[in-house]
Amino acid sequence: MRQSKLFTKTRKDAPKDEVSKNAQLLIRGGYIHKEMAGVYSYLPLGLRVLAKIEQIIREEMNAIGGQETKMATLHPSENWKKTGGWDGVDVLFKLQSRTEKEYALGQSEEEIVTPIAQEYAGSYKDLPLSIYQIGQKYRDELRAKSGIMRGREFGMKDMYSFHVNQADFDRNYEIVKAAYLKIFSRCGLVAKVTEASGGAFSEKISYEFMVLTEAGEDDILYCPECTHCANVEISRTKEGGACPKCGKGKLAKARAAEVGNVFDLGQKYPKAFGFTYKDKEGKEQYPIVGCYGIGTTRLMGTIVEVHSDEKGVVWPKEVAPFEAHLISLAGNSIEVAAEAERMYELLQEQGIEVLYDERDARAGEKFADADLLGIPVRLVVSEKTVTQAGVEFSERVSGAASMVPENELIARLKK
Ligand code: ATP
Ligand code: MG
Repeated sequence: MRQSKLFTKTRKDAPKDEVSKNAQLLIRGGYIHKEMAGVYSYLPLGLRVLAKIEQIIREEMNAIGGQETKMATLHPSENWKKTGGWDGVDVLFKLQSRTEKEYALGQSEEEIVTPIAQEYAGSYKDLPLSIYQIGQKYRDELRAKSGIMRGREFGMKDMYSFHVNQADFDRNYEIVKAAYLKIFSRCGLVAKVTEASGGAFSEKISYEFMVLTEAGEDDILYCPECTHCANVEISRTKEGGACPKCGKGKLAKARAAEVGNVFDLGQKYPKAFGFTYKDKEGKEQYPIVGCYGIGTTRLMGTIVEVHSDEKGVVWPKEVAPFEAHLISLAGNSIEVAAEAERMYELLQEQGIEVLYDERDARAGEKFADADLLGIPVRLVVSEKTVTQAGVEFSERVSGAASMVPENELIARLKK
């Protein structure tokens, strides 16, 4: 894409009322636009990042048998009344129509997915079943100061699985946990599997996926010697105490952001909707339900918090809006400008996603913008390209630059 055609522009300063680093950098880069506290629009660059994150999640959910849907976000109040959520869920946005009919905005989707599964899964032969979607959620959050990490409108991948018994559920739980770790790792993050309480949804233990960052809103206790990790809210062992799992390490405390979680919902929702299936003996049984969330927009914000420096964002490869940022320093040189154009064509022919800065601007401005935007690879075309038949190649993460001859360029980029 030609940068001169991009309708968004970078800006030097973040809005004064924006306190979080993720929103500051993303707003300055033109990735997102703030509508009000906790509500952001995703602009072309931001949407590209979000789409990449969503695609990673989609691939991993499909790989474990998830079937994608797009469920309604405007919900009938009756469903929420059946489950007790209408009065019991404090963050639920409730609407009234002009004919005084009541609706809820989807803050989670059990009230919609359970009747859907009920319609199609009448027999043990139809189970297990995993249904997911990637879309908008609405929550009346009291505080929204963490930029896109806590929105009143935000993106989530939510999957729901239905099982004939606990053993089958437990088997799936482990599979989803492994898929989650793969997703976070592909997004350039290390997530700790953390024991937590079931919260509003269930009495059972749930697992949260925590990424260490000061921008998070949770405190966790983890063992430096093994994988043990628990939310401080439920940990029986205090900071400095011996790890309850390996006994070797001393528990350390850290701030973290919850990027995802998995819940055992038991039979609560099937019972609320009278959803039973026929088992092998022809007896009606309630299925066991699991729910698995990943905050897609919180994940994007967390990536920015973890991967950024004083100059801007440093996108991990798989979620970057473009693979390469081609910068033309043609100035008045027709020859250099032609080289840059040729390079842009070449990269596109090779299937490289490239943002091409052919704007009539100073080199310093172009580089500052490139640092702010944080595309992993920068390719500079200048007089040197004409004389040395190569482009200056540098990685955003290290900044180290070297001349790469044209015939080696594509291989370097595809590495
Ligand atoms: P939190 O404790 O942070 O409020 P939660 O326990 O309410 O999270 P869930 O209802 O399980 O979260 O939602 C699934 C995932 O959606 C969370 O793990 C988180 O990544 C994300 N999420 C939850 N609330 C928000 C929000 N207000 N803004 C952005 N992402 C959110
Ligand atoms: Mg919450």
